Amino acid sequence: MKAKALTVITGVLLLTAAAAWLLRVEFAFFSNFYLLYLGLLLALLGLTFILLQFILASRIKILERGFGLDRMFSWHRIFGRAGLIMVTLHAVLIVAFRLSYFGQIFFNVFIFLGVLALLGFMVTAGLASTYKKIGLAYETWRNIHLANYVLFPVVMVHAFYHGPPGSLLYYYLYLLGLLFLAVIIYRLVRIISMRRNPYEVTEVRQEADDIWSLFFKGPRLDFKPGQFMFIQLFRDGQLSSPHPFTISASPTAENLSITPKKLGDFTMTIKDTRPGDRAYIDAPYGVFSFLNVAPGELVFIAGGIGITPFMSMLRYSYDHKLDQKVTLFWANRSEKNLCFQEELETMQKEMPGLKVIPVMSDQPDWSGEKGHIKAPVLMNYLESLGNKEYFVCGPPAMSRAVINELKQLNVSSLKIHTELFEL
Ligand SMILES: Cc1cc2nc3c(=O)[nH]c(=O)nc-3n(C[C@H](O)[C@H](O)[C@H](O)COP(=O)(O)OP(=O)(O)OC[C@H]3O[C@@H](n4cnc5c(N)ncnc54)[C@H](O)[C@@H]3O)c2cc1C
Repeated sequence: MKAKALTVITGVLLLTAAAAWLLRVEFAFFSNFYLLYLGLLLALLGLTFILLQFILASRIKILERGFGLDRMFSWHRIFGRAGLIMVTLHAVLIVAFRLSYFGQIFFNVFIFLGVLALLGFMVTAGLASTYKKIGLAYETWRNIHLANYVLFPVVMVHAFYHGPPGSLLYYYLYLLGLLFLAVIIYRLVRIISMRRNPYEVTEVRQEADDIWSLFFKGPRLDFKPGQFMFIQLFRDGQLSSPHPFTISASPTAENLSITPKKLGDFTMTIKDTRPGDRAYIDAPYGVFSFLNVAPGELVFIAGGIGITPFMSMLRYSYDHKLDQKVTLFWANRSEKNLCFQEELETMQKEMPGLKVIPVMSDQPDWSGEKGHIKAPVLMNYLESLGNKEYFVCGPPAMSRAVINELKQLNVSSLKIHTELFEL
């Protein structure tokens, strides 16, 4: 994965060099106007970075297969901030140039559009990092964030006004505009294709107090165990926003299923879903699957509802009668949180290589492992830590703690695979 990150960084550096070169050609005759030159360079780069955000956030399958959606969304957060800083600095430098050269700043409708778009980007980016702290619902934040699709054309109008017609710079802006259009078309085609191929809920099954599985029939989906989907439920005439859930069924099963745990606005309504309700499914996504690593001994570490991708992988192994050594550590507060108990017991009986170790953090009378998944618990069941592939899935805080623990135990990060349940 480091190699992939390096590819992205190299791409960004090449882009910087290309933008600098483009501008140098256009502004060679202004070569002593450093503030202007730098300001325009930052505008061009900032615009490119902002365009990149639409590509990174649009769940483009061909890119997602290589990098994984969580990584692409994390780049979206990093490069989005970088783009915003660049366009903000661009505005500061242009104002500084005008004040130092002309002694005043100008204002016209195109500059106004640029300022408007900049303020809009500041609001959407600011909310992305603060919406939880200020108590904004995810859906509200997401809808506000979509305003960026209006702000980008606005900023393009501002940029076109400043691009000298017929110049290289002008053509580069055309290219950005075309890429933006391609992203919009991609998203529209995906929505139309989902609407044309709906799924139907066939069963709503309670798995634990606050955990329900939904089963769907519909078009056959080609996926790997451990991958996830985005789902929109159409119930009582209302369409929900898309939510990501692991496909808890194995690819060998007849129907798809998801297993959401009640957490907030959407997941608390899962139990109200009825057989016959419609679902729009966009899938598969993710690279979290044991089929993506070389065959060998596996260690699965789940936190709470993070068990779902492992259920899919174990169901797949069970159906294919794979003879594999798998140790599953499953962290929960207490046994009240457990689900799939009978199925896991059956699998343990019939799959000699499988060992399931539930670990309870908040149940003093639990007879098995207690506390958190740390070195002593791991060492109790694994003869050695080397030569194994580690798969970690659960709430982000728990997953990060486990990954740190593994790294401190000298497990190579190449052997640690994660799904954070957070995009
Ligand atoms: C790859 C992946 C697989 C997942 N698999 C499962 C699973 O198998 N079972 C399960 O119970 N949960 C799973 N989740 C988590 C699940 O998506 C969230 O719990 C759910 O979307 C919360 O929605 P809510 O409205 O009920 O809660 P809210 O209280 O509105 O949201 C809680 C948090 O969930 C995240 N979230 C909310 N809505 C969305 C959305 N539309 N898109 C992305 N993130 C959102 C946000 O971080 C938010 O702060 C998975 C998440 C990811 C990223």
